Amino acid sequence: MKAIGVDLGGSHVMAAAIEDGVIKARSEQDILDRDFELVVKSVAKVIGDVLCDFKKASGIGIGSPGNVDLETGEIRYSPNFGWRNAPLGERLRAEFSLPVFVANDARCATLGEYTYGSGRGTRNFVLLTLGTGIGGGIVAEGRLLLGNAAGAGEIGHHQIRATDGFYCACGKIGCFEAQASGTGLIRHALAVAGSFPRSDLVSSKREKLGSKAIRKAAEAGDPHGVAAWNCYTADLARGLANVIAFVNPQTIALGGGVSSAGQFMLDAVQPQVEELTTMVPRGQTRIAIAELGNDAGAIGAAEMADRGGIVKVTSA
Ligand SMILES: [Zn+2]
Repeated sequence: MKAIGVDLGGSHVMAAAIEDGVIKARSEQDILDRDFELVVKSVAKVIGDVLCDFKKASGIGIGSPGNVDLETGEIRYSPNFGWRNAPLGERLRAEFSLPVFVANDARCATLGEYTYGSGRGTRNFVLLTLGTGIGGGIVAEGRLLLGNAAGAGEIGHHQIRATDGFYCACGKIGCFEAQASGTGLIRHALAVAGSFPRSDLVSSKREKLGSKAIRKAAEAGDPHGVAAWNCYTADLARGLANVIAFVNPQTIALGGGVSSAGQFMLDAVQPQVEELTTMVPRGQTRIAIAELGNDAGAIGAAEMADRGGIVKVTSA
C-alpha cells in the first residue's frame, strides 16, 4: 500500500511517500512563521513535491502537534502553533483530491513504531519520545488508545515531582516531561551545577548547553555529567514505573535525542524501574530503544491514511 505521511512540527515539516513502512521519497521545509495560512502553504508544498513522483497514493496522513478532532482533522488547540480550531484537514482536502486524515503527531509516531519498529510482535506497547518534551502513545490489546477526546497518551504531563520539580510548559510543576525530556536533562545539569564549580559543562557557554554534551560527559565519567545523568535517569525510571503500573505494556520504546545513549541509558534505567515496580509482576516489560528515529511520525501518519483513519486501527 502506498500513502503520503506528513510529520508537522513547530519548526519543520516533512512529507514522505511511503510504501509498507518504507520511505520512497521525501520533501521537507523549515517553518519560519506559525501563522495558520502560511503553515498550510508549507504543508501543501511538501505534499505536492512527493505526489509528483508518487501518483498512486491512497491517501494523505498528517501528524500534527496538539489536540485533533479525528473526524474532521481540525486542530482543536495546539500550544506549539498557538492555534485554536484550525481546519487543517478541510483545507488540505480542498487542495488535493485524496482522502486526508489528521491525528496528533505523537500518536502517529506510536502507530509507526508499533507497526514497523520496536513494537512489532507485541499487542501492548508504549512509545515515549524524549526530545524537547515527551511525546507518547499507548497501544493496548492491539489498539491505539485515543481516549474520550483523543487525549489519551499525554504521558509527559503526569506529575512525578509535584512539590520539588521543574516548572513544566503546561503550567504544572514536576511533570514527567519537565524532569525526563532532553530539556529535563539540561535542567538537571544546571540544578546540580553549584556542586561542580570547576565543571566544563556549565561555563560561559551555558546557554549553549545541550543534552548531548551532558550525556557524553556522563559516559566519559565526568563527575558533573554523572551527577546530572543520575538525577535524570532516576526521574525517567519513576515515570516508566508509573507507565508500567497504568498499562503494563510488553515493550516501552524510548525515542528522541536522549535515547541515542542506547545501552548506557537502558543499563541505568532498567534496575531502577524494576525496583519501583511493585504491584505489577517485575521483569514483564522490555524497555527498548525505538527503531524508526525521526521517521516514526511520517511512517505512522501514512499507515493511518492506508488504514482509512486512526480510529479504525486495529491489531496487526
Ligand atoms: Zn506538564
